[in-house]
Amino acid sequence: MNHDQNRRTGDPGARPKKFQSPDPPSGHLSEPFAARGAEVRAILKEQDFRFEKKWGQNFLTDANLLEAVVRDSGTGPGDLAVEVGAGAGALTLALSRAAGQVVAFEIDQRLRPVLARTLEGRANVTLRFEDVLKADLSDLSDPARPFRLVANLPYYITTPVVMRFLEGGFPLKSLTVMVQKEVAERFAAGPEDPNYGAVSAVLAFYGIPRICRTVSRNLFIPRPEVDSALFHLDCVRRFFPRDEALFFRTVKAAFAMRRKTLVNNLAALGLDKSEAADLLKALGFSEQVRGEKLSPADFVRLSDALSERGIKG
Ligand code: SAM
Repeated sequence: MNHDQNRRTGDPGARPKKFQSPDPPSGHLSEPFAARGAEVRAILKEQDFRFEKKWGQNFLTDANLLEAVVRDSGTGPGDLAVEVGAGAGALTLALSRAAGQVVAFEIDQRLRPVLARTLEGRANVTLRFEDVLKADLSDLSDPARPFRLVANLPYYITTPVVMRFLEGGFPLKSLTVMVQKEVAERFAAGPEDPNYGAVSAVLAFYGIPRICRTVSRNLFIPRPEVDSALFHLDCVRRFFPRDEALFFRTVKAAFAMRRKTLVNNLAALGLDKSEAADLLKALGFSEQVRGEKLSPADFVRLSDALSERGIKG
């Protein structure tokens, strides 16, 4: 899985909102929470916290935005919310107000005293000071305890984190992640979109993708060099290929060389050109078709046809 870019939401009807103001009116917020944004900034300053670039530390403190993120995620009182990268705890705090339980991972031990202050008295939060990519996540596998993943992700591990949670067989209700805008656009792209690629088709396999809002770089401290967007995946399964592993292999092969036709790319699955051309024609595609024209549903039909020919994932 590579980390490149894309555009277009999976839900063409919904135009993402733009969240820009660094200091929006907070009339609808309960005052204690609105005040917490400033408090979090004060705690960081008081502790003389030094942001660590290598861990993607760009924190959010805008209370209106944080409430909007929680709302977009659909988190409600009965939910378990899992957060990756608690940072100074501003999103953790917003989640703890909306969710039943919150489990938040954080790699940076230096944030212990900051989080102890920010999350003081929040009995429904469990902090895990671990690298989320190496942590034993077996306690999150219980189908009776489904969860929502909600995170302002450290950008250097966006795709590995998303794929760990999607591929790991967790009982995931939804995934709502703040990521670099171009990455969100690629995640949510559909066929015909120049940003549509293997990752878009794979994410669509796991759920219904959408971009909730774009977010100005000015809302992060420190300010990053790129804008962000909030990507949401409602984890409802719509596709049931005969052989899941083969579906993923087919998608990967189809996009392996973007400038080649699908007939050529299918060689990676052991098909010679005339076999591949016959197969595509039988499915109603032209011989010249490229992978990016196929929707996730088309990839299911293609991988099922390959499976019927004895090809395995
Ligand atoms: N949630 C906070 C917020 O919105 O302000 C912080 C978000 S910041 C973009 C990402 C956080 O992830 C940082 O606090 C960073 O230390 C943490 N982080 C980076 N790599 C991590 C990893 N492998 N496992 C857990 N946390 C990680």
